[in-house]
Amino acid sequence: MQSAPTHGKIHVAVIGGGVIGVCSASWLLREGFAVTIVEPGEIANGSSFGNAGCFNPSSVVPMSMPGNITKVPGWLLDPLGPLSIRWAYLPRIAPWLLRFLQAGSRQRVEKQAAALAGLLRDSPDVYLPLVENAGALDLLRRDGHLMVYLTRADFEADAFAWQLRKRNGIDYTVLERDALWQLEPALSRDYQLGVLLPGNGHTVNPQRFVAALANAFLRNGGQIKRAKVQGFDLTGERLAGLCTDGGIVAADRAVVAAGAYSKQFATQLGDSVPLDTERGYHIIVRSPEASPGLPILDTSGKFVATPMETGLRLAGTVEFAGLEAPPDWRRARNLLKLGKRLFPGLAETYPEDRLSVWMGFRPSMPDSLPVIGYSRRTRDVVYAFGHGHIGMAAGANTGHLVTDLITGKVPRVPVEPFSPQRFG
Ligand SMILES: Cc1cc2nc3c(=O)[nH]c(=O)nc-3n(C[C@H](O)[C@H](O)[C@H](O)COP(=O)(O)OP(=O)(O)OC[C@H]3O[C@@H](n4cnc5c(N)ncnc54)[C@H](O)[C@@H]3O)c2cc1C
Repeated sequence: MQSAPTHGKIHVAVIGGGVIGVCSASWLLREGFAVTIVEPGEIANGSSFGNAGCFNPSSVVPMSMPGNITKVPGWLLDPLGPLSIRWAYLPRIAPWLLRFLQAGSRQRVEKQAAALAGLLRDSPDVYLPLVENAGALDLLRRDGHLMVYLTRADFEADAFAWQLRKRNGIDYTVLERDALWQLEPALSRDYQLGVLLPGNGHTVNPQRFVAALANAFLRNGGQIKRAKVQGFDLTGERLAGLCTDGGIVAADRAVVAAGAYSKQFATQLGDSVPLDTERGYHIIVRSPEASPGLPILDTSGKFVATPMETGLRLAGTVEFAGLEAPPDWRRARNLLKLGKRLFPGLAETYPEDRLSVWMGFRPSMPDSLPVIGYSRRTRDVVYAFGHGHIGMAAGANTGHLVTDLITGKVPRVPVEPFSPQRFG
């Protein structure tokens, strides 16, 4: 058995080196714990690798909204639509989908939005101490975010979502036609209305961003062990370590931050959590002929176009197909078609060496709220997974909450809405 790396200190092992694991580990280390991240692959090789990079406090609007029940069947019937399902996966995902639809009542959505507002508060600024310490300010932008609509009627149809944002303290400015096109000249004139969210930010490279925080964690005395965690070494309610394919890693406390792969760990500790994955895709156009100055969410195509250091990244879509099925790269290619509609200056076709595609597994809960809290079996294990569409935006605050729970302090934001036991 390996000994804890820093004697005389409580040793915390963090399962998973994505944005949630790295942020949790970083704050825990600052709080004085001895911390080891246990990760089988490279840092940020999962969902944190290829996302749209947005740090959006405005993402308080849950995925399941009133009225979805009428829209979902149409989306599902279009194989390249914003939401798709591999029919072989339907029996597995059906209970999740049912919970998803149930989560979309007005009353529940109001509560979810309030909980998300707490979790997303001050993103991206809440990252600053970590980013400054990592010398990675060049990877962070605080230029805002634009959500665009084809027509004013489409914007008005989203009124409830905008009321939710307003009620939860999100500032925004509506821009129509010329005002919009002047702000974003690359945008197609087919888009008549945009909403500028000045408080939002983004990173120009999510993978490098998370890796930079992890490198700073190492420099500050944290450890990273390359191993796949299999389970917990428990004596009664006390944790002694993690069982991995590289032997036991000694630990007094553990954080489960294995993204879409976290359910197995909760099950081992007696918690039944409906975690599944909403697979998402991106396509990057290198040296694009047209690119926005800030991230743009196309509300009709339901994807985000983010200017990144690697090119223009078009990211989004939701595919229900579990963790095993091969990617459907047509979905990534279709994002390029949608991107061309958004930015007519893009070329009709591209040589393969100017494109790059990716698929990732969002760790998603049906009520759009992550799982943050103690395990049923032992308070030595804290869960931090299920961030769905908001893991980048919520990473730093989630790490703070994890640290509060492990130190036994009153969490700075109420964690009851994120309870692992909320599904009974
Ligand atoms: C297309 C797309 C666009 C997105 N855009 C945004 C956005 O703009 N803004 C935003 O906030 N969010 C966005 N997201 C969501 C965001 O990417 C995720 O919520 C976030 O990355 C989840 O982070 P995580 O650390 O929980 O999981 P991951 O990043 O998936 O990390 C989990 C880690 O756990 C490791 N692991 C798995 N099993 C084990 C094991 N047995 N032992 C040890 N380690 C293990 C994995 O190797 C992995 O490194 C987007 C997602 C997608 C797919």
